[in-house]
Amino acid sequence: MYEAAIIGGGPAGLAATMYCVRKGMDVQLITATLGGKSTLGLTLPDMSEYHIIKAREQVRTFQGKIEYLPHTWRTGKVTGIAETEAGFTLSLSGHGQPSEVEAERIVIATGTTPSPLGVPGEADFFGQGLGSSAISYSHLLRNRAAVVIGDSDRAIEAAIECAEQCEEVSLVLEPHATYSHRHLEFAGARENVEIYNGYRAVRIEGDEFARRMIICRDDRSAGGCGPEKTLFGEAFFVERTPRPNSNLVAGLVERTPTGEIRINEKNETSHKRIFAAGDVTTVGIEQILVALGEGARAGLSAYRQHTMQV
Ligand SMILES: Cc1cc2nc3c(=O)[nH]c(=O)nc-3n(C[C@H](O)[C@H](O)[C@H](O)COP(=O)(O)OP(=O)(O)OC[C@H]3O[C@@H](n4cnc5c(N)ncnc54)[C@H](O)[C@@H]3O)c2cc1C
Repeated sequence: MYEAAIIGGGPAGLAATMYCVRKGMDVQLITATLGGKSTLGLTLPDMSEYHIIKAREQVRTFQGKIEYLPHTWRTGKVTGIAETEAGFTLSLSGHGQPSEVEAERIVIATGTTPSPLGVPGEADFFGQGLGSSAISYSHLLRNRAAVVIGDSDRAIEAAIECAEQCEEVSLVLEPHATYSHRHLEFAGARENVEIYNGYRAVRIEGDEFARRMIICRDDRSAGGCGPEKTLFGEAFFVERTPRPNSNLVAGLVERTPTGEIRINEKNETSHKRIFAAGDVTTVGIEQILVALGEGARAGLSAYRQHTMQV
């Protein structure tokens, strides 16, 4: 039985694992992919590398150390967690072989699953002028034009953040969007924000980069789509609300109605032996450096629980 199992090998899980290793714990990281969403990026037309905070390099440092210690991790997907008297039994799938791992305590660092638009052009241009996480790139948008689309306050906040830098921002709120009217009024009061409420994306077009988003107003009488409109931009952000990957611990820990795992300032959950870190939690700041810090704290809290049995 391991002293700790870390589930998820993005920035949060990598940091948690390294801190447990450093403390001499017998630890096992189980992850579907190494690096998680930190491997995703966005290149904009005429973007200079100079402007970017290189958080990914920090992740690669942790990743390199984990790869150097092969006994501390394995690739696989955790499909179930059962509580036992001594801790937990984790069911795994991977390499075509189901297996199990037993651990006294666990750190959940499984991140979130994005919600794509599912329109033509989206997959082709993803990373090339089209991305998500506007907060990661807004500082690169000075005097540019950006298009933000989404289904909640998340999109409105992203548009407001882009408007701080951009010359103009088009905010597309999808027909099923739920949002605070105060947020929308706030965005509408910005001179450089144009709002398209009740529209949806039809396709994305461009050359090497995404350049145009074609939208239409949802109109059932016109067969689902009213006349099309073209929005031009140098950066396009899909800011739909992502789904936290927390179903594994449903019933074991407290979660919000939308699935984020509730944690305290020590990354402890409502279960004494379960810790959580990164985007899957209530922290609500989706940034690599934040996830690394949260992961380090979750690892140290797991160690404290191991030594103090608190
Ligand atoms: C397109 C895009 C661009 C971004 N750009 C930046 C940027 O430039 N700068 C920045 O600071 N932030 C950026 N972010 C945000 C940043 O990537 C995330 O905040 C960060 O990666 C979150 O780390 P995490 O460890 O919590 O989750 P993740 O990175 O999502 O990692 C979760 C890990 O858990 C694994 N996993 C999930 N479920 C299971 C399971 N059941 N069993 C085993 N493994 C599982 C996944 O495979 C993955 O490896 C970007 C995000 C996106 C989507």
